[in-house]
Amino acid sequence: MDMMKRIYVQSFGCQMNKLDTALVVGALKEAGFRLTDTVKDADVVLMNTCSVREHAEQRVFSHLGHLKHIKESHPDLVVGVIGCMAQRLGDELLKHEAVNLVCGPAQIPRLSVLLKEAMQGKKATTAVTEKIRQKPTDEQNQLLEDFESAYGVEDKQIPNQAFVRVMRGCNNFCTYCIVPYVRGPEVSRPPEAIMEQIKKLADHGVKQVTLLGQRVNAYQYQQGGRTWSLADLLDAASNIKGIEWLRFVTSYPSGEFFNDILQVMADSPKVCNYLHIPAQSGSDRILQAMNRRYSSREYLDLLGRAREIVPGISIAGDFIVGFSGETEEDFEATIDLVRKARYKNAFIFKYSPRPGTTADKRLQDTIPGDVKQRRNVELLAVQEKISDELSRDFLGKEVNVLVEGLSKKSHVNMDQNDNPQLIGRTSGDWIVVFNGPESLTGQFAQVKITAVSPLTLFGQLG
Ligand code: SF4
Repeated sequence: MDMMKRIYVQSFGCQMNKLDTALVVGALKEAGFRLTDTVKDADVVLMNTCSVREHAEQRVFSHLGHLKHIKESHPDLVVGVIGCMAQRLGDELLKHEAVNLVCGPAQIPRLSVLLKEAMQGKKATTAVTEKIRQKPTDEQNQLLEDFESAYGVEDKQIPNQAFVRVMRGCNNFCTYCIVPYVRGPEVSRPPEAIMEQIKKLADHGVKQVTLLGQRVNAYQYQQGGRTWSLADLLDAASNIKGIEWLRFVTSYPSGEFFNDILQVMADSPKVCNYLHIPAQSGSDRILQAMNRRYSSREYLDLLGRAREIVPGISIAGDFIVGFSGETEEDFEATIDLVRKARYKNAFIFKYSPRPGTTADKRLQDTIPGDVKQRRNVELLAVQEKISDELSRDFLGKEVNVLVEGLSKKSHVNMDQNDNPQLIGRTSGDWIVVFNGPESLTGQFAQVKITAVSPLTLFGQLG
C-alpha cells in the first residue's frame, strides 16, 4: 500500500465485539493501516456494530448519516460496517449511500483484503455468512482460529488484562435474542489453541485473562477420548506462569458442568470469585416464553449451591423488563427473585423486539413504553438498595485490587502527594477508586476501604 492509510475504528456492543475489534485492529496494522482517533483524518472508517437492541442499531444509522455528509467533501472516504448488524442486514446496508463495505463477524479474517479492494474503488461489497445456522466447515473454523491465534495477543483495552474467546455462537435460541442469528451455532475452540494464546498473553505481561463465550459454561471440546469443559480450561490456565487472575463470562444458569466450574473457583486462588449469570425474569411463565430452560426456583438453587461451594462469591445478573405479556404479577416475581438473589449488581434492560427472533415472529410487544420504563426504574431501585447493603460490608476492610488506570476524574481528585485518582477491580469485580501513583496501572495494590456507594468502593493505599 503506497501511503500508510489511516483508519478510524468505532466499536459498539458487548465484550465479544470489543475482542473482534482488537483482532481486526491487529490485522489491519499488519496490513499497513495506521489508527487515527478522528474521523476527520481518516481514509477509512470502520464501525463494529451491535444488534442486541433497536437502540444500538439506531446509533449506527445516525453515525452513517453523519458520514454521508462528510463524504460530500471527502468522496474517497471508505466506510465499512462490520459485526452483528452487518450480518443481520447484509446487502440492505449497502443501500445506505455512506456504506462501501459490509462484513459479518465470521468474515473478519478477510477484512484487510476487502478494505483494500474498496479503496481501489471496486464496487461496494457484502461479505456475510449466507446460511448462518449451518455448522461452519473445518476450513472456515480454521480461518477464524488462525486469525484469533495470530491477533488475539493484541488486545490492549486494559493494561495487563485480556479477553480470550473460548467459543463462538449460541444454540440456546432465547426467544428475544438475535445472537444465534448473527453469530451462528456454538463452536468451542481447541483447548491447546486457547492455552497457547494465554501463554503468549502471559509472556506479554498480561496478569488477568477473561474467558469469553455467549454461554461460556457450555464449552465442550472432544479430544482424544476426553471431553474438555470450562472447568478444565480454568484449571489448565491457572497453571500458566504469569497469569494471576482468571474470569469467565457470560454463564447460562444450567448445564451439566456447573458444579465442576464452581469447584475450580473454590479450589484455585487464581479463578476470581465472580459469577455473571443472567436470570432475565423471576416469573416461570415469562422464563418459559423466553425459552430460558430453568425455573426461578432452579435458578435460586443454583445461586445457593454457588454460595455454598464458593464462600464469599460475588454474583451479577441480567434482567429484561416488559417482555411480551409480562403482567404486574410476573414483574413482582422478578422483584422477589432479585431480593432473594442478592446480586452485587444487575444489568437491567427494557424489552426491545428484534426482527427475526422467535418472540418477534410469534409474540406481540404488548407492554407500553411507559410501563417498561416504570418497571426498569423500580427494579433498579430494588437492586441499588441491595448493592448498597453489600458494599457496606467492605468498610474498614483491605482488598486486593488489579489497577486498570486513571479514573475518569483522576486529576480532579488529586491527593496531598499529587497522586491522581486510580480505578481498579477486586476479584469479586467490585470497582475500587483510590489515589496512587499512575505506575500502579496493570499491577495489584492493597487498598483499605474508607467509603462506599452502591457500585463503588473508595479507599486508600494499604
Ligand atoms: S443464551 Fe440466550 S440470551 Fe444468551 S446469547 Fe444465547 S440465545 Fe442469546
